[in-house]
Amino acid sequence: MSIDHWMTFSTFAEQDYFAYPGMGTYNGVIINGNMASYAPAGLAAFLLEKISRETSYLIDPLTHAFQHDPGLIKGPNGRTKASIRSMAKAYGYPVSESVGSRPLQPENFDNDDDLSTFVTQCLKYQNCQLAEKMKESNAARYLSSESELLPYAVVAPYFYMTETTIDEWLQVNVRAARLTVNHTEKDQKCFAAIVVSQGVILDDALIEKISSEFSDIELDGFLLWVDNLDEQSAAGAELTGMLNLAKSLRKDRSREVINLHGGYFSILAAGVLGNGAMSGVAHGPEFGEYRSVVPVGGGIPIARYYVPKLHARVRYREAVSIFRQAEWLLSANAFHKKVCGCRECRSILNGDAGNFVKFGEGTPKQVRRRHGIVTIDFPTREAQERCLRHYLEVKHIEYKAALDAPREMLLTNLRTGESQFREFVGNSGVAHLKLWRKVFGDISKAE
Ligand SMILES: [Zn+2]
Repeated sequence: MSIDHWMTFSTFAEQDYFAYPGMGTYNGVIINGNMASYAPAGLAAFLLEKISRETSYLIDPLTHAFQHDPGLIKGPNGRTKASIRSMAKAYGYPVSESVGSRPLQPENFDNDDDLSTFVTQCLKYQNCQLAEKMKESNAARYLSSESELLPYAVVAPYFYMTETTIDEWLQVNVRAARLTVNHTEKDQKCFAAIVVSQGVILDDALIEKISSEFSDIELDGFLLWVDNLDEQSAAGAELTGMLNLAKSLRKDRSREVINLHGGYFSILAAGVLGNGAMSGVAHGPEFGEYRSVVPVGGGIPIARYYVPKLHARVRYREAVSIFRQAEWLLSANAFHKKVCGCRECRSILNGDAGNFVKFGEGTPKQVRRRHGIVTIDFPTREAQERCLRHYLEVKHIEYKAALDAPREMLLTNLRTGESQFREFVGNSGVAHLKLWRKVFGDISKAE
C-alpha cells in the first residue's frame, strides 16, 4: 500500500512550494489544461528546474469546461479566456466550434469518428504541450530519455455527470476511455476521470453502474472528483458514498484512484483505515481540499491556520481565541506540545508564543460590499506564506501517518482531537472527526 501525495499547480507565485517541506515530498503535480495552454514555457521550466526528477506531472484535460454555460469561461471583458480558446483549438471539433457560444451536448459525440479524432487530439495535447517546450530547454540535456518528459499518465477526455445527466454522459465518457486505451502506446499509463455530483455518490445503483461500465476497459487508473465535497461539512452518507465509489473503481488493486481534491478523510481512506480505497490524494498548496466543478469566484482572502488535531483550517482570530482559552499560548513549549511542533511553527515562534501573531498579520483595506464600504484586514504576503508552509508541513505528516500508523492510533488521534477541542468549538466544530470515525467503522451506527 502507498498513498501518493499529489499537489495541484495553481500560480507561479506558489511554485517553490512543490519542493517544500522537501524536494521529492510530492509524487506528482496536477496541471490544469488551460494553465498548460496559457504558460507552457513557464511550466516547462518549472517541471525541469523546480521539482525533483522523481516528481511526475499530469495534465487534466479539463474537457468538462466546455459543457457548462459559456459565460463561465469568459473573462471580465466578456470574451472567452484566451487559454480556453487555444485549448479548444488544440482539441479541435466539436469544441473548437462550440466554445464560447454554446455548451457541449452528449449528442455532439454521437459520431464515432468525431469522438475518435477529439480523443486523439486531446491525448496529443497532454503528451506534447509541455514535453515539447521542455525538449527545447537547456535543462532537458541532462535527461536520460525523452520519455521522462511525458506525463505520468494520459487522461481520457471526460465530462461531468449528475444524477440527471449521467445516462447520456456516462456513455460518452466510457467510449472516450476505450478510445484512449486504443490510441495510447502500451508503455504509457491511461486514466479516466470520474467527475460527479454529490447526488451520484448517494445512489448505490449509480456507483455500481459507473464501476461496471469501466471495469472491462484496460485502464491503469482514475482521477476522482466529487463536486464541492467538503469533507469537514459533508454528511456521513456522502463520505460513505465517496468511499464506496473509490473502492468499486479500485476493485482491482492494480488500478490507481487519485482524488483530485481531498482532505484528511481521503488520506485516511487511502491508508490503513480505508484499506487503500484510494491510491493517492491531491490538494492545492493553498488548501484546495474541495472544489466545485463549475468555477466560482475567489472571495476575500482571510488568514487561516490549519489546526493539526482538528484537521481543519480555522480563521486566524478563531484559532487565537481557542488557543488562549485552552492556555496553549502560555509558552512556546505548550504550543508545540498541544498544537503544532512543525518546523515552520518552531521557527516562527522562536521560543516565544507571542510570535503566533505572525500567522495573522494583516493590512487593513477598504472593500466595497453590497451595503457600502467596509474595512477588512487582508493577510500580508508573509503571513500567508507562514500559514501555507505550516499547512504543507502538517499535510506531509498526515500522509505518512495514515500509511504507517496502526489503525488504533489513527482512531485514537481522532478521538483526542474531538475531546480536546469540543469545549472550545462546540459539538459542531468537532462533528467531522466523529463522523469520520463512524464511516471507518469505529462507532456503531446507533451511537
Ligand atoms: Zn506548524
